Amino acid sequence: MNYFSLNNKNEISSFKNAVIKGLAPDKGLYFPKQIRRLSKTFFKHIEQYSNETIAFEALQQFIVPEIPENTLKQIIKETLSFDFPIIELNDQISTLELFHGPTMAFKDVGARFMARCLGYFNQDNTNEVTVLVATSGDTGGAVANGFLGVKGVNVIILYPSGKVSAIQEKQLTTLGQNITALEVDGVFDDCQDMVKRAFLDDELTRNMQLTSANSINIARWLPQLLYFMFAYKTLKSKYQDIVFSVPSGNFGNICAGIMAQQLGLPIKHFIAANNANNVVSEYLKTQEYQPKASVQTLSNAMDVGNPSNFIRIQEMYHHDFKTLQNNLSAYSFSDAATKTAMNTIYNKYNYIADPHGAIGYLAAQCYIKEHPNVHCVFLETAHPSKFLDVVEPTLGKKLQIPNQIKTVIDKPKVSIKISSYEDLKHFLIQFR
Ligand SMILES: *Cc1c(COP(=O)(O)O)cnc(C)c1O
Repeated sequence: MNYFSLNNKNEISSFKNAVIKGLAPDKGLYFPKQIRRLSKTFFKHIEQYSNETIAFEALQQFIVPEIPENTLKQIIKETLSFDFPIIELNDQISTLELFHGPTMAFKDVGARFMARCLGYFNQDNTNEVTVLVATSGDTGGAVANGFLGVKGVNVIILYPSGKVSAIQEKQLTTLGQNITALEVDGVFDDCQDMVKRAFLDDELTRNMQLTSANSINIARWLPQLLYFMFAYKTLKSKYQDIVFSVPSGNFGNICAGIMAQQLGLPIKHFIAANNANNVVSEYLKTQEYQPKASVQTLSNAMDVGNPSNFIRIQEMYHHDFKTLQNNLSAYSFSDAATKTAMNTIYNKYNYIADPHGAIGYLAAQCYIKEHPNVHCVFLETAHPSKFLDVVEPTLGKKLQIPNQIKTVIDKPKVSIKISSYEDLKHFLIQFR
């Protein structure tokens, strides 16, 4: 399968090149040249297939033969080695728990898949790749864990000192091997600016292969479409019209859901659930797309002022505003509403939601009010214990800490402090 740059249809790339480079030379996001719908019978019988079979059927067209069939099957098997349970709260609303992976964030699937693809392309170890990633919390842990021990790949994670939760910090600073954590004296935007500057620095990129591991990379983005297929498989016999409410920041996850729909998955509608960072919900109201500086909220993984994947959604809906509006709704909620929702979900359903999932629930409620006959699935994108400092005081309750998290808490943190781009560059030069 070839990919083209969303800035220029004539800028073509192989899968391998797109995974290694991340972005096209013209800075456009890569997008598949064709999308082949899966057969109606496949979806009709989907409950008879294992998750691994579904994944192979859905993903092979994007990846084989650059990665051979059997290797892709093995990568899928290793990536999906945990559950994706649906919890029905009532007959209008369910939650899809995406936090059963090693770092308890939905980003585990994309990070593990991408790491294995890069590992395959680098198996002879001739061209080392350096993955450079800025994190506001969850990405760092998932990427560190997913890439741990992958040959020929060095991973450098920049995180803002004192601005990620204690657990998140441990998840990205305790692994060692090919993972290095750089603790930046600054905020998330400073980390991101340094990473962007490194990608544009000829002195660095002439001599080393730098790539990013956020959802602009197709190998991290595409496998997320599987969540929607797995949920459909579970709910299909019970409910006719299934709608997904997706807590969204960079819009990678929801955009993958729309890709599943393009492959033929019968999804009725999508809802983008946003915090105060509401560029997309404003756009749907006014038809004016106005990126803004991000504002800090309780659901910090969604504090994004200019969602990079929105352009991929536009592409799939042919840049047609009416089509977009017919398929996608967006709602935005304050921190106060988020806390109230966490309490409602707990009191009404005895279910503990994290702040991101709680926004998914709120958006689902808004949509159901207008469309009472649908079944709405909101995605739980992280385990609540990753946001202890918000969840415990809001619910007035101590949480049980899962094993995945207990095991990192006591490990010693190892990080390198940096405070400027020059520090970063100095550090990177040793990998050339
Ligand atoms: C990354 C993240 C999101 C946002 O996902 P996007 O694909 O960037 O829209 C939502 N919730 C949590 C917990 C996350 O880590």
